[in-house]
Amino acid sequence: MINVAIDGPAGAGKSSIAAAVAGKVGYIYVDTGALYRAVAYSVIKNGTDPSDSEKVISLLSKLQVELKFVDKCQRVFVNDEDVSDMIRTPEVSMGASVVSAIGEVRNFLFELQKKIARENNVIMDGRDIGTVVLPDAQLKIFLTASPQERARRRYEEIKDKQDVSFDEILIDIIKRDENDMNRAVSPLRQAKDAVLVDTTEMSIEEVISCIESMIRKL
Ligand code: C5P
Repeated sequence: MINVAIDGPAGAGKSSIAAAVAGKVGYIYVDTGALYRAVAYSVIKNGTDPSDSEKVISLLSKLQVELKFVDKCQRVFVNDEDVSDMIRTPEVSMGASVVSAIGEVRNFLFELQKKIARENNVIMDGRDIGTVVLPDAQLKIFLTASPQERARRRYEEIKDKQDVSFDEILIDIIKRDENDMNRAVSPLRQAKDAVLVDTTEMSIEEVISCIESMIRKL
């Protein structure tokens, strides 16, 4: 099976780019952030504070997280409930960033990610895919862009759907970068053998064709 790992900070465009490239090469696109979001969503729904590690850990045994692919499109389920549409709020984003720093949460989601990659050609995006989850991936990309550019893109994407300002998004992105890069377990960092793609000055089409051509050469 061919495994492509795409890591990078929040808002670098990983998900739209990975999904588009996967469509072109016929692979399954796996958005691992959705798994951490699903855990955060369940924690918040349960009335638990995401930073209360002990309570979060004890809740894990009650959660059954699954990924299903409908026409190659990922849906995430918790205890048979499709939560895919509920996990995109700023509250869940920040909650995911907090619960993802808990080692037990990462272990809980690890095998699920490995199994999908063993059984399918995948483009998997996240923070630790090239470094921890799929260290043997045939291609690793580290996708990044300046915080301002990432905030601008996210703002454009959600401004009509949610009542948030550009500044709020920028602060959120900087805070999440900090959490993701400085946590003790599986921090966000570029794998030694990853190709760095800085998309600050690139159009989405350019990034897609750049990554597609790297995959075609595998
Ligand atoms: O990619 P997305 O923004 O949906 O991820 C939400 C949060 O989940 C991130 O801020 C990060 O803290 C966490 N995450 C992670 N490891 C991954 C994917 C996401 O820690 N592989």
